[in-house]
Amino acid sequence: MTTSPPRTRWLFAGQLGPLFDDGGPIMLVEARSVFGRRPMHRAKAHLILSALRHRAAELGDRVEYHRVERYGEAVDGRDDLEVVDPTSYAARRFVRGHGMTVLPSRGFVTTEEDFRAWADSRGGRRLLMEDFYRGVRERTGVLMRGDQPEGGRWNLDHDNRQPPPKGAARLGLPDPWWPQEDEIDEEVRADLDRWQADGAVRLVGDDGPRRFAATAAEAERALDDFLESRLGDFGPFEDAMLDGDWTMAHSLLSPALNLGLLDPRDVVERVAAEYHAGRAPLPSAEGFVRQIAGWRDYVWHLYWYLGEGYRTSHNALDARRPLPAAFRELDASSIESRCLSETIEGMRRHGWAHHIQRLMVLGNWALQHGYDPVALNDWFVDMFVDGTPWVMPANVIGMSQHADGGIVATKPYAAGGAYIDRMSDYCGSCRFDPKVRLGEDACPFTAGYWAFLDRVEPRLRGNHRMAQPLAGLRRLADREAVVAQEAHRDRW
Ligand SMILES: Cc1cc2nc3c(=O)[nH]c(=O)nc-3n(C[C@H](O)[C@H](O)[C@H](O)COP(=O)(O)OP(=O)(O)OC[C@H]3O[C@@H](n4cnc5c(N)ncnc54)[C@H](O)[C@@H]3O)c2cc1C
Ligand code: SF4
Repeated sequence: MTTSPPRTRWLFAGQLGPLFDDGGPIMLVEARSVFGRRPMHRAKAHLILSALRHRAAELGDRVEYHRVERYGEAVDGRDDLEVVDPTSYAARRFVRGHGMTVLPSRGFVTTEEDFRAWADSRGGRRLLMEDFYRGVRERTGVLMRGDQPEGGRWNLDHDNRQPPPKGAARLGLPDPWWPQEDEIDEEVRADLDRWQADGAVRLVGDDGPRRFAATAAEAERALDDFLESRLGDFGPFEDAMLDGDWTMAHSLLSPALNLGLLDPRDVVERVAAEYHAGRAPLPSAEGFVRQIAGWRDYVWHLYWYLGEGYRTSHNALDARRPLPAAFRELDASSIESRCLSETIEGMRRHGWAHHIQRLMVLGNWALQHGYDPVALNDWFVDMFVDGTPWVMPANVIGMSQHADGGIVATKPYAAGGAYIDRMSDYCGSCRFDPKVRLGEDACPFTAGYWAFLDRVEPRLRGNHRMAQPLAGLRRLADREAVVAQEAHRDRW
C-alpha cells in the first residue's frame, strides 16, 4: 500500500501562531499586490510582513516561502495544498477555486457551527450579542459557578465604564511592554521604502518603532504584561480617554489575535485564572472576557451570517459624503477639535486607537457628517494595524454607522460633546466648548449631533429608542440656526 505524501499547509497572515500548525510542511506566501490595492497604514504593512517573515524564520526548513506579486504565482497548478479556512470571502473563494483541501476555521472561542446552531435556534431573529455571550459562558464554563455567572450577574458594565480619574493626566500604569525590533524589521522597512519608491504601494502614517507583537513569543510576553500591569484597571477605564495616555488600560492584543499569534481561548482562560487567583477584580475580568468571547466572536460570526453583500448593500441613513483628506492622509494638522485631532494623530503614529476613540470619536464624527459607510469601512480596514475584512462590517456598517438600519445595533451611536467631555479630558484643552452649540465656540460634536438628528429625523422617527433624542430636537429653540451653521462649518 502506498501512502500519499503529507499535504502542504498554506498559512495566511491571520494564521501565524501555533494554533494553526499541526506539524506538517508549511507554505507562506508574501504577495506584494495585497499591499498595493488601496492606501494602507505603513505600520500595518510592516506588521504583516514582519510577522510572515518571522514565522518563516521560526519554521526553518519546514517552510517554503514565496515572495511573489500575486498569490496565483505560488499556488496555480498545485494539487498538494491544504488550508485552514481563511478569514475573508475573497480568500475562501480563491482556495476553493484552486481545489485546495479546506479544514474548519480556527482562532475563535466558538466554531462557525456553534454560531449557526445558536442563530437557527432563534429563527435568525434577535441575535443579540448579550444573549450570544451568555451562551458562550454557559458552554465554556468561563467565569461560571455551576450554572450561574460568577458574582451572580452576567453583565458588570455598571461597575465598569467609568470616566477617567478626576484631574489625572494619565492612568499612572507602567508603560506597556514593547517588542524589540530586529534585522527582519529592518529588512521589512527597507523593502517598504523600495516598494513605495517604485509606486507599487501607497503607504500612510508612521512606521515604527513596531509596537505590536510579530511572533507568538512576543504575543505571549505582551499578554503576560497586560495581565500583570493593566487587567485590574481595564474594566473601570475601558471607555475612558486621556489626552496624555494613548494606551490607557487596554491590552493592545487585537493585532496579535487577528494575526493568529494567540489562541483567544487561552487568553480568556488566563484572564479568568487571574480572577480566581484573586489577582484581578471580577468587573475587569468579566469586562475583558466579554470583549473576546463576546464581541470578537460575535462580529466574526456575523461577517459570515450576514453574507458578503451586507457590507455594500445598506445605506439606511443615506450617507454619501467622501472621506476628507484629514482622514485619508491621517493628517490632523488642520483639525482644531482636540478629541478628533488627538485620535487621528495617534492613528498616524501607531495605526491604532482604542475602542471609544474608534466608536465615539471617529465613528461618531463620520456618522454625524454622513460619510459613505463602505468607504469608511474600508478605511478602517486599511488604516488600523488590527483591521481585517471580517472585523469591520458589524463594527462599522452596523454598530458605528447604523447603515444597516438596525440589524446589529438598535440605534445609532451618536453623541454630542457632553459625552466626550464626561469620558475624557480632551475638552479642557480644546478651542471649542462642549456646552455651546451656536457661534465661534460651538463644539462641532455638540452642534453636529443636533444637525445629524435634524437630517435623519424622517428615517428614525419609527425607532422607539430614538424617541427621546428626537423629542429633544423638536424642543431645540435654535434648531434652524444650528443646522444652518453646521451646513457651512469649515473649522473643526
Ligand atoms: C469602528 C470600529 C472599528 C473597529 N476596528 C477593529 C479592527 O480593525 N480590528 C479589531 O480587532 N477590532 C476592531 N474594533 C474593536 C475594538 O475597538 C478593538 O478590538 C480594540 O480597540 C483593540 O485594542 P485592544 O486590543 O487594546 O482591545 P481591548 O480593549 O484590550 O479589548 C480586548 C480585545 O477584545 C476584542 N474586541 C473588543 N471589542 C471588539 C469588537 N467590537 N470587535 C472585535 N473585537 C473586539 C479585541 O480582540 C481586543 O483585542 C473596532 C471597533 C469599532 C467600533
Ligand atoms: S469641545 Fe467638542 S470638539 Fe473639543 S474636545 Fe470636546 S467634544 Fe471634542
